[in-house]
Formats: sequence, C-alpha cells, structure tokens
Amino acid sequence: MKKHNFYAGPSILPQYTIEKSIEGIKEFAGTGLSILEISHRSKEFVACMNDTIGLFRELLDIPAGYQVLFLGGGASLQFAMVPMNLMNTKSAYLNTGEWAGKALKEAKNFGEAVEVASSKEKLFNYIPKNYTVPQDADYFHITTNNTIYGTEIKKDMDVSIPLVADMSSDIFSRPVDVSKYALIYGGAQKNLAPAGVTFVIVREDVLGKVSRPLPSMLDYRVHIKGESMFNTPPVFAVFAAQQTLLWLKGLGGVEAIQKKNIEKAALLYDEIDRNRLFVPTIPDPEDRSLMNICFVMSENYKELEKPFADFAKTKGILGIEGHRSVGGFRASTYNALPKESVEALVSAMKEFESKN
Ligand SMILES: *Cc1c(COP(=O)(O)O)cnc(C)c1O
Repeated sequence: MKKHNFYAGPSILPQYTIEKSIEGIKEFAGTGLSILEISHRSKEFVACMNDTIGLFRELLDIPAGYQVLFLGGGASLQFAMVPMNLMNTKSAYLNTGEWAGKALKEAKNFGEAVEVASSKEKLFNYIPKNYTVPQDADYFHITTNNTIYGTEIKKDMDVSIPLVADMSSDIFSRPVDVSKYALIYGGAQKNLAPAGVTFVIVREDVLGKVSRPLPSMLDYRVHIKGESMFNTPPVFAVFAAQQTLLWLKGLGGVEAIQKKNIEKAALLYDEIDRNRLFVPTIPDPEDRSLMNICFVMSENYKELEKPFADFAKTKGILGIEGHRSVGGFRASTYNALPKESVEALVSAMKEFESKN
C-alpha cells in the first residue's frame, strides 16, 4: 500500500533525493567510491559543498555580505551559539512555542534575554502581535514556524535591531527576504535533508562584536574561514541537501513550491473547518502554519481520537499523531509531501465522518 508520510521530523524527502542518495551511496561523482567513504577535502566533495552553498544563494536570493554555513549540532546548538556570538549584554525573544522557549532558555546563560511576548497562556495557539522590541537589545529572535503547535510567521518582519530566525521547519517553503535578517538557522531534517546537518545564513557584519572568548567550534567566524570544513562536515547530509535543492530548482524554486504549499494546506484546513468531527487548534487563519497542520477531535467526539488514528493507519497515513506535549493530530505538509497524500487524509476524514 502507498504510504503517506506526515511525520514532523525527520520527515518526508523528495523521491528524487532518496534515489540520488542511493546512487551516491553506491558511487559518488564518478569517483568509484561511495559518498560515505570519501574525504571531505576531495575535489569532488568540495565541489558538492560549493554547489550546495550556491543553490542556497540562488534559491533564497541571498544578498552579498552573507555567508552560508553547514554545521553539526542541530538547531538546538544554535540556541546557544547565537547568543554566544551575537549578544553582549541583552537580547530579545518572541516566545511562540517549545523551540522558541528553549532558545530563550539557552540565551539566559549568556546575558539578559528578555521575553518580549508569549502566547503560552493559550497553549501557543496564536502569534503575539502587539509588542515592543527593546532597542538596546543586540538582536531579536523569532521562530518562524512553530513545528509543535502549528503556527507560522509567514511574512518577513521589519525590526530596527538585528533579526535572528529559527527556520528549521519552513526554510525553502516560501520566498524569504534574507536582507531583513542578520542570521537564519535551522536543522535540515524537516524540509531539506536527512538529520545531521544544520544550516546557518549569517550577515558577516554582525559578527566579532562580543568580548567573551569563544571555543573554535562555536565561533561562526572560524567556520566561515574554514568554509564549513573547519572540522569534518556532515558529508552525506550535505550531499542529500544538494539533491533536494536541485529538485526544488527543477520545480521552479521557492515561489513555485509556495503555491503548492498554500494549495495543500488550504485543502486540509478547509476539511478540518468543515468536518463536524474535527476542530483546528489555531483559530486565526493568518497564524496557521502551512507546514504543520494541527487539529483535535471536536468536543462531542473526543473518544474517537484513537479510533481515527487507527483508521488513518489502515489507509497508509503515517505520522499524524500530535506532539507528545499537545496530543490530537498534526499533519506535516512539508515541500516534499505530494498533494495526493493530503487528498488521502482528507478523504479518510470524510469517510470517518460518514461512519460516525
Ligand atoms: C525540530 C526543531 C528544532 C530542533 O532541531 P534539532 O536539529 O533537533 O536540534 C528547533 N527548532 C524548530 C523550529 C524545530 O522544528
């Protein structure tokens, strides 16, 4: 049976990426060796790294003055690296969920990290709107897509201090005006590659302003100088990211995928709004994520949660259980998820409604 992969992360990759990865594992770039067993300093891998950086620049239209890095440690290490490298005394955070909260917690190790607003009192079911960003903070940190709760900041915001964004789960899902950000980071395992690589896009002029000593591995400037090869980079994950970006470019890039993402999300949100068994967890359509679509059973049908989860499985629908801290359902509709999978979920919801 065809499987429909709604996992939140690691998550679905394009079939193209899977097939090219298999080929690369067998033989990489005509070397007669596998991508898994080749030096990261070989000219073939250096070319792969440079091409992947080039694809980042091209697809996200990254202006001059920015560097693209591929590091280890996941987005979670960036929660600490960002304040270490950018915060002298004060930083500001928008608390829109679990990941945002973890980022804030790490920053507190390095100075005064201020929570400018939080939607915690409503289980993070909206994006706070009216808040003031302190002008004396070294940067303002946001999480553009809240993977667990299903909210998303879909427009690039204007702030007068450097803006830092965790884009782990919506990078490459839409065009981004990179010039509005000082730094963008994310784990690749949601929308780009298998787990193991973290991307960082950083405007060079924000670096070198802190006085604390930085361990080499935690200093962006060291990785810029080393061209992401200060130590061994996650070779295979970078190779896979290159394949995903080639696939995305072939589809027409981020504008084209954004159209598809909007269509897919509309299909599912419309069904959640219509179906009497389900309710969306994010009331305001403006705040609803296009990547992680969260819903629960409506008040009178709470006991049908487990039966629906089981029913969905019989249709090949996998990974729709909500995060363990939230419950209910979460369908992740990342770039690589085909529209047919959303259609399969929608028709399972309709069929389940007619049976209940
Ligand atoms: C998954 C996720 C993280 C954590 O990423 P790791 O690579 O596991 O550290 C952080 N932020 C967001 C928004 C995420 O979706």
